[in-house]
Parts: sequence; C-alpha cells; structure tokens
Amino acid sequence: MSKNSDVIVIGGGINGVSTAFQLARQGAKVTLLEKSFIAGGPTGSSSAIIRQHYSNEITARMVLNSLRVWQNFEDVVGAECDFTQTGFLMAVLPEDVDSLKENISLQQSVGIDTKFVNPEEMQEIEPHMNPAGLGGAAYEPEAGFCDPNLSANSYAKAAKRHGASIRTGVTVTEIKQEKGRIVGVETNEGFVSAGAVIIVAGPWSTSMLSQLGVALPMVAARASIVFLRRPEGFDRHLIWADFITQNYMRPETGGLMLVGSISPKEAEDTVENPDNFNDRVDMQTLAEFAESAALRYPAMEESHLTSSYTALYSITPDWHPVMDAVPDHDGLYVCTGGSGHCFKLAPAIGEMMAQLVLKGKHPNDDINLFSFDRFTKKGDVDSQYDYKIIA
Ligand SMILES: Cc1cc2nc3c(=O)[nH]c(=O)nc-3n(C[C@H](O)[C@H](O)[C@H](O)COP(=O)(O)OP(=O)(O)OC[C@H]3O[C@@H](n4cnc5c(N)ncnc54)[C@H](O)[C@@H]3O)c2cc1C
Repeated sequence: MSKNSDVIVIGGGINGVSTAFQLARQGAKVTLLEKSFIAGGPTGSSSAIIRQHYSNEITARMVLNSLRVWQNFEDVVGAECDFTQTGFLMAVLPEDVDSLKENISLQQSVGIDTKFVNPEEMQEIEPHMNPAGLGGAAYEPEAGFCDPNLSANSYAKAAKRHGASIRTGVTVTEIKQEKGRIVGVETNEGFVSAGAVIIVAGPWSTSMLSQLGVALPMVAARASIVFLRRPEGFDRHLIWADFITQNYMRPETGGLMLVGSISPKEAEDTVENPDNFNDRVDMQTLAEFAESAALRYPAMEESHLTSSYTALYSITPDWHPVMDAVPDHDGLYVCTGGSGHCFKLAPAIGEMMAQLVLKGKHPNDDINLFSFDRFTKKGDVDSQYDYKIIA
C-alpha cells in the first residue's frame, strides 16, 4: 500500500504549522491534522510576545533567529504575522542586578540587541512607568508581539503552497504501529498512512503518548490573561515585565493593556482534562493584575477591566520543550512542552524539527538540549532564574 504522506504532523498550533511549513518547503509530503481549527488551542490565546531575554545560549540563539523571521515574515513565509515592534523592559530587584548583567552579556555575545538600564534610564525610555523597588532592567528595543492567529494561519497557508495537506476538524484517535514502526494514524475520518508522525499537540500530547505506554512528565496548567482599558491620554507603552509584581504587560490593540503572569505559581494550577477546564479568571487574580498595572503605570489607576480568560500552558519540569524522537517507537517524534514561552521560538522550532525528521540528530545539534530522556538521565536544562518562564 502506498503511503498518503511521508510525515503526519498532529496539531495546528504555531509549532505544528511552522514544522509543517519547513518540512513541506524541503520537499517532504506532509499532512497536518488539527482537531479544531488552526490556532484553535493555546496558540490562539497566546500573548505572542517576542522578547529575547533567555539565560541559556541555545535558547538565546534560537530566539534571535526566530526574531529575524518574525521581523521579515512576509519575505520568509510569504504572508503576514502582524509583528508590532514595541521594545521590552525586563526589570529585576536590586539584589539581582549583577546576575541580570551577566545574563545580558550572554545575550549580547550571541548578537542580541540588549543593554542594562538603571531606574532613571528606565523612566527615560518609559516615562509613564514607576520603577519603585527595582534595581534595573534589560532593555531590548527590537522586541514586540505578533497576532498569534494570523501568524499560525499564514504558516499553514504557506505550508499548503509548498504542497502540504492541511486538514482541520480531523481528530487523531490512535497512532498506529506495526512491529515497533509507525505506519500512520487513525482519525475520525479514517486511516492516514505515513512513515513518520510528529506529535505537536500541546497539552493533549501526554495522553497521546500514554496510549503508547510512553510517560512524558508534563502538566497542563491554567494561565490567566486580563485586558484593561487604558485611560485617555495613555496612548502607548512598551512590553514590560518585572520580578516584584511578577506580571507582564503589553499593549493590545483598541486602547487596551494585556496583563499576564510570570509567576512560577502558574505551574501549580493544573488541569486534568485540556478539553474541559475552567477558563474564567478568579476575582483575586483580576484584582492582583489590576493592582500590578496601577503600580507600574500609575495612569492605570483610572483603567477598567474589559475581559479576561485562562488558557493552558504545557509545562515540563525545567520549563523547556521536548523536541525529540520518542525512544523505542521508530518514526515517532514529539515537539511539545512550550511552557508558556514557545510562540516566539516557533520559527526555530519548525526548522529544528524538520531537520530532526528529515536528516536525523547529530551530537552537536542544538536540539539535543531538548531531549526526551533529560528528566531521567541527563538532567534539566540550566537556566538562571527561578522564574523559569524567562529561562
Ligand atoms: C495565555 C498564554 C500566553 C502565552 N504567551 C506567550 C508569549 O507571550 N510568548 C511566547 O513565546 N509564548 C507564549 N505562550 C506559549 C505559546 O503560546 C505556546 O508555547 C505555543 O502556542 C504552543 O503551540 P503548539 O503548536 O506547540 O501547541 P498548541 O497551541 O497547544 O496546539 C496544539 C494543537 O493540537 C491540536 N490537537 C490536540 N489533540 C489533537 C488530536 N487528537 N488530533 C488533532 N489535533 C489535535 C489542538 O487542537 C491544538 O490546536 C503563551 C501561552 C498561553 C496559554
């Protein structure tokens, strides 16, 4: 029987579509299967912030390569992602200034445009902002954010232009193997055959793997997002994050401010079933996020709430993704565990996954950092902060 595809990608989030795009443009026959619609999972609820503040050389390089794609999306992908450059300030407590400076040096060494700024300089860059209690910040002028739905749909269309089949409303019900080799997947619309299958199914990846007897240490956890209306006269601000409020704030269209969390506590609010969880933000969180916004931007004391939601992070023990072949299952790959920060890395992730599937893994490849067995054998990926989302 001839195969329908060389590779099946399960999941139409940003990393699924970017992987499908890279595979298709390199000549592979790709089928992407998405149970709802493109960006219908966590990707569609992402804040889609593209900042480069990482404390690991490999992720720092990945984010710089990815930023260049977001900035030149039309040239590279042939469609829009609506990248809006705002700049980013990542502020720390006085006692963390030295380690922040070390981290900035690491980022500069890979070519990231970032520098240390003291509280006075922070205020020159962001005049509306109150730096109370902070020791300084990393300033990235090139940072910004994308439209996550548009970005994912653009990648999907580009993959299609390169010959990929993008099938939405198709649920994978079982991954099929014969004699330990992947042969395809069963879906609500019938069997699709392929020699390789990549699970890029976000929080659903764990149950898909457990059906095959494979345990992945990853939890799905609720992350809260709150939108506040900026008062008249407060027209613009950059992307902000600090370790005192443990919040981030980014401008949103329509005169809004989007507020999210960088607290490691987000990992504690786990859900069992990604198809059925409480997507409402509780009153205490609403109040805390509004207070943080008003502390950092006093003009926001006059703001009011417009909307809010929770969506799911897929969190691994070290808050880094797993991108690897699945041990003992020939032809099966996984790319998941974005842990609240893998929208921005999607261009690099797509390239790395395509290379892994088409050319295999070599000892010096960056992708080795994200191996499946690191939690049991090699040890977690190092990062400088307890706030692992900034890893
Ligand atoms: C609230 C929030 C804010 C965030 N903010 C940022 C940010 O500012 N910057 C940043 O870089 N990252 C951010 N992230 C993280 C980032 O959005 C995610 O890491 C990324 O979107 C994950 O994309 P993905 O393609 O790996 O998976 P997902 O978006 O989880 O997509 C998985 C897809 O698989 C599909 N699927 C599942 N099961 C099946 C099945 N059986 N058959 C077929 N399809 C299936 C689902 O429907 C889903 O569409 C945020 C995440 C959240 C939740």
